[in-house]
Amino acid sequence: MEPREQAIVEESLDPTDWKEIETLGHRMVDDLIYYLESVRERPVWQKMPEPTRQALKEPLPLDPQGPEKAYEDFLRHVLPYPTGNIHPRFWGWVMGTGSAVGMLSELLAAGMNSNVVGFDQAATAVEQQVLGWLREMLCFPPGSSGLLVGGGSMANVVGLAVARNAMAGFDLRFDGLAAGPRMTLYASVETHSSMRKAVELLGLGSRSLRLVPVGKDRTVDVEALAALIAADRHAGMRPIAVIGNAGAVNSGAIDDLERLADLCERERIWLHVDGAIGAPAMLSPRLRPALRGMERADSLALDLHKWLYMPYDIGCVLVRSEEAHRGAFASSAAYLAPTSGGLSGIAFTFSDYGPQLSRSFRALKAWMCLKAYGVHKYARLIEQNVEQARHLAGLVEQSSELELLAPAPLNIVCFRFVAPDLDEAGLNALNERILVELQESGAAVPSSTVLDGRFCLRVAITNHRTRRDDLELLVREVVRLGREGMKS
Ligand SMILES: *Cc1c(COP(=O)(O)O)cnc(C)c1O
Repeated sequence: MEPREQAIVEESLDPTDWKEIETLGHRMVDDLIYYLESVRERPVWQKMPEPTRQALKEPLPLDPQGPEKAYEDFLRHVLPYPTGNIHPRFWGWVMGTGSAVGMLSELLAAGMNSNVVGFDQAATAVEQQVLGWLREMLCFPPGSSGLLVGGGSMANVVGLAVARNAMAGFDLRFDGLAAGPRMTLYASVETHSSMRKAVELLGLGSRSLRLVPVGKDRTVDVEALAALIAADRHAGMRPIAVIGNAGAVNSGAIDDLERLADLCERERIWLHVDGAIGAPAMLSPRLRPALRGMERADSLALDLHKWLYMPYDIGCVLVRSEEAHRGAFASSAAYLAPTSGGLSGIAFTFSDYGPQLSRSFRALKAWMCLKAYGVHKYARLIEQNVEQARHLAGLVEQSSELELLAPAPLNIVCFRFVAPDLDEAGLNALNERILVELQESGAAVPSSTVLDGRFCLRVAITNHRTRRDDLELLVREVVRLGREGMKS
């Protein structure tokens, strides 16, 4: 054997000088706090300039550039070109604003880097507490179970997976879908596209998702829904689930959830409610009546990164029957078996409630935000957003140059600029130009949708920084751009 000539050099990712990283860390925190504080002074959104696009195509960094250089590049090329959803005049799609406490708690969670599989650790207890709080906030029964997930889309997948397995009538996990008749699900035409994706992903086939017409208020036609179920049963299919909207994506329409719950009870069908947008309105005593029946759902999907203003990403699914929930996902493996003590000294694992094994500590930001701000504050902010939507709808109705295109029962307002000389195609083109100009000028970011063939500006206010004068500015800009667009 050769004698060892050199001592073994062992490396890690830790800094050799902790003081340097500490200084950099403090700078980052200072910079980002200021970034939040000064958000109103910046454009809502701006295009990345060419040098930035090029800078973000750099070759694979094989050798270290160092944390300072990485941070400088972040400051130069990444930070100035965000989605814009932290800005007070961002109302596009349905995006939450985040908060200072949310931001800082992401740092804390990343520092701990806990893997929230389960285990006897604080992170597990924190997530269980957050789920308990959400259950209480949404008036779900104490015995129900839940899981934090990446967002409403995943919450819908998990909820419908539980529904599918619980309602199949045979051991779907073992036998697979081929062992039974076609299972059908029912949702209004206003239902979010993630539902179709969920149904496809679950192997049910999108033609099993029956889209039911809506009335003038854009809520599901319950009679038509009942008739469809009866026809499908008659044709030998197995209706398994009705999907109710608590805040539908286009206009915020809330289905009559009480009637849906009654129907599901009668028909012995699973009720899944997509509350990605509207479920948090349950916090407001004034808004709660509109959601009546939601608490009777068998499963409920909601987003905390939308109307609870928490940083991306965090959503939640609640399931009334813990047994059904576990029935869809629980599994065992020797390497995950509980032990008589130690880290695996508790039998509980979150992987028995969803598809993921390793999971981030996203519960921490929810726990921190709820503690720091308190639920009453959230209730007031949600009411404030609804009041602001009402204010905007009022301004639209007062103007002869603007037209409201759907009722605005919640926090979403759909409207357009109108001019007597233009036909529908002309109005669609003009309003699209208005939208693009609003975004590209950095003045405001609404998004768009098409209602009955009409292109409209869609303002979804899930923003705790918005003030009424921001909406007044929007209205002025839309009218100005519309008039200007008429001339060109
Ligand atoms: C946003 C949204 C979803 C999807 O949620 P993500 O968090 O984006 O995955 C589902 N349903 C409705 C009604 C939504 O608004």
